[in-house]
Amino acid sequence: MKEKNITARFIELCKINSPSRGEKSIASYLKKWARDNGLHCAEDRAGKKLSSNSNNLYISGRKHSFKNPQLVLCAHMDTISDTAKIRIRSSAGKICAGGDTVLGADDKAGIAVIMQTVQTLKKRNTLKDTNLMCFFSVCEESGLRGAAHCDMSMFNKKSFVYVLDSELPVGTVITKAPYLDKFSILVKGKSSHAGIDPEKGKSSIKAAAYLINKLPQGKIDRETTFNIGIINGGNKINVVPELTVIRGEIRSHKYAKIRDISDRLSRVCKNTAKLYNEKISFFREPVFKGFDICSGHPIVKTFKKATGNAGIRPGESFSNGGSDANVFNDKRIYSVNIGTGFRYPHSEKEYIRPKDLKNGAKIIIELCALFSKKTYFV
Ligand SMILES: [Zn+2]
Repeated sequence: MKEKNITARFIELCKINSPSRGEKSIASYLKKWARDNGLHCAEDRAGKKLSSNSNNLYISGRKHSFKNPQLVLCAHMDTISDTAKIRIRSSAGKICAGGDTVLGADDKAGIAVIMQTVQTLKKRNTLKDTNLMCFFSVCEESGLRGAAHCDMSMFNKKSFVYVLDSELPVGTVITKAPYLDKFSILVKGKSSHAGIDPEKGKSSIKAAAYLINKLPQGKIDRETTFNIGIINGGNKINVVPELTVIRGEIRSHKYAKIRDISDRLSRVCKNTAKLYNEKISFFREPVFKGFDICSGHPIVKTFKKATGNAGIRPGESFSNGGSDANVFNDKRIYSVNIGTGFRYPHSEKEYIRPKDLKNGAKIIIELCALFSKKTYFV
């Protein structure tokens, strides 16, 4: 497999605009690729449920067997934001977006690696021996919702899902990821004319500011973070603002810690409501669950073995981000996220090195070889 081939494939993918809920073009590209290569392509009905113009895709070389462990390679089709105006630059061994968009290597690097792997297995005539399925999800960036709505009949309890969606170095397996709950706080004061009778109003912004000051911020401890990401309050400068909405998230590797912080939040809301004589409501909702897979598990050992076989040093790490791996573990299917080598995802600084695309594919090809020879560590 040549570096220039996988790089060309990657750049082609980056040129397709695919924000969350607008994945149709990239899905069509993948369907055509499957057709051209005689692969089997199925889709579910996730699009309708998520108001997306595409469903999740399931592409495999043959009808998969439910007897053997099934190797699933997963990457998401959507990008964090629109990339319609992307201008791709390549210099100093890095591919980046020269304009003011993200590159979308998160997660088109994962897709390119999977496509190139399948292409190589086909060429070597080993695809039919590998019980392999490629799963391409929609709406990952909007809360892992595509994977959450996947068709579970396509998987079996012996599936191992490798998600190619991490900014960590190629060869790293992520065995631990956090739980995440989102919350919103509604502060309801009373409106009045700001110039004529401000004393008759109760400013929800003032109460919200007090409340936010009483809350934690950023890193709480090694495995817990707290963030207020959105605040909306008032709508005219001459009106005492009646309504302010605060939205944020809490993530931790231990769910008990999320509960503790949430209790504290609830207490602060009650106290602020009393102090300002306003109505404050607090809502919390789980977004995804964390996972923690031990180093000795076959899904981890097989990946490390494949990495070694590819001549790359394996690494193991944890992440504070969520991925489709969180969803699969929650559905009782073993899954890990793996390093794909893109850097600064979700920013205009995002880049990837062609060398990392090539090494990523080398590892996945070795991983497929272990599965086809049935030398996985089960
Ligand atoms: Zn991603």
